[in-house]
Amino acid sequence: MLDKRKFYINGQWVEPSTKNDLDVINPSDESVCAVISLGSQADTDAAVAAARAAFPSWSVSTKADRIALLERLHTIYERRMDDMAEVISMEMGAPIDFAKSSQAPSGTEAIEDFLNQLRKFEFEKQLDDSDNQLIYEPKGVCALITPWNWPISQVALKVIPAIAAGCTMVLKPSELAPLDSMIFAEMLEEAGCPPGVFNLVNGDGVGVGSQLTSHPDVDMVSFTGSTRAGALISHNAADDFKRVGLELGGKGANIIFADADEKAVKRGVRHCFNNTGQSCNAPTRMLVERSIYNQAVEIAKETAISTKTDIASNTGRHLGPVVSKLQFDKIQALIQAGIDENATLVIGGTGKPEGLETGYFVKPTIFADVNNQMTVARTEIFGPVLSMIPFDTEEEAIAIANDTPYGLENYVQTQDPEKAKRISKKLLSGVVEVNGKGLALGSPFGGFKHSGIGREGGEHGFNEFIEVKVVTGWT
Ligand code: NAD
Repeated sequence: MLDKRKFYINGQWVEPSTKNDLDVINPSDESVCAVISLGSQADTDAAVAAARAAFPSWSVSTKADRIALLERLHTIYERRMDDMAEVISMEMGAPIDFAKSSQAPSGTEAIEDFLNQLRKFEFEKQLDDSDNQLIYEPKGVCALITPWNWPISQVALKVIPAIAAGCTMVLKPSELAPLDSMIFAEMLEEAGCPPGVFNLVNGDGVGVGSQLTSHPDVDMVSFTGSTRAGALISHNAADDFKRVGLELGGKGANIIFADADEKAVKRGVRHCFNNTGQSCNAPTRMLVERSIYNQAVEIAKETAISTKTDIASNTGRHLGPVVSKLQFDKIQALIQAGIDENATLVIGGTGKPEGLETGYFVKPTIFADVNNQMTVARTEIFGPVLSMIPFDTEEEAIAIANDTPYGLENYVQTQDPEKAKRISKKLLSGVVEVNGKGLALGSPFGGFKHSGIGREGGEHGFNEFIEVKVVTGWT
């Protein structure tokens, strides 16, 4: 068992001010894999004070210094990629090969993305041909609060642009999956990140999370997590007008037309089940044109049958457990709601897959004949559960897709490019993926409506950490 009870404050690994241990549970076997500390107000205050003290010098550091730091970090990260993959797999249950191919490399991708942004960013420029000068400054001390499902991706999408912009920060990662962030802190330390620029305090939402979002010395909060917590954080941050960026939940629609390519259904099911369904942008509502609906249900069923579930440390392509007992219970209740509301259970259901009685394993589950008012179509389940909904016309598909409080990512499958463009423009979401073509490095990611405020990644993600000032009479 790993002892990870210290916090990283002002360039030092320090003991918490008060003993308050929390076990980190390996969801594959329910064993305790590490112990961390939950911080108190004194730890939060010390970390914010360190970030505040470091701000005057880091905010005026040169672009070359920041680039050099991020390049060193990139080299160290590449060297420690396997360490990163192994802890992610252990703490949140990502199958080890998936952790190595997708979860861990998302950290270096973020570094590469923001190095590109930083290299081309002009921190000062003239406004057209006027005597006004635009000066772009870092927003200040940032509180960065992240979830467990893509843990290092979500951390890197905040920490890296904050460093690049000249901000200083306190990171509070998810208390369920904090170990990847602690390795990341070790990497930043080795890379020579100046003391106080990056600080890490572990804790829960009601403790360190709330202390950070209401702290008078915090200028900006960047949060990824549930819509529930996003609303609480916005209220908390409102009193002193903190800048707030929110990446929240989703209930993505995957609209499959009769003229879609032959792999569209299989691809959609796999995408929904990816990361054991624990992705905010998962395409969990599969909308299928009625003429191919029955055939699509059969393909989806076959795809689920061929989907293996196994413990995370086993190699190969499979689904791991969900992250915690709490999530397991929540998913079970939502599957039961689907059954109670008379959706057709095609495969899966409540209970654990055979042979996996220990660990938080969920059966890959598909519901057919779902209508968009059912609980399984409205609630973000965050498990491997797909709802299949038939539609007759393009207009109806768009109306169903948009009939949700969320607006993070939707999907369109058709071989008619004009139809894909027409529909994409009408979908109320920050991202529309067409025919399985993924996002390019530097794409903005974020949501409309209850899915959040602001964007992460690329130029837009970088600008979240920047304030603009205009100075007149600049000659
Ligand atoms: P969560 O909101 O419970 O927790 C996320 C983080 O916020 C954790 O670090 C937690 O300790 C902290 N937190 C919780 N309540 C808080 C409060 N009141 N004040 C301050 N901090 C608080 O979410 P989760 O269960 O860890 O993560 C799953 C959710 O995250 C899902 O809803 C998912 O859709 C969403 N998510 C969104 C994105 C995105 O980019 N849009 C990405 C990943 C996950």
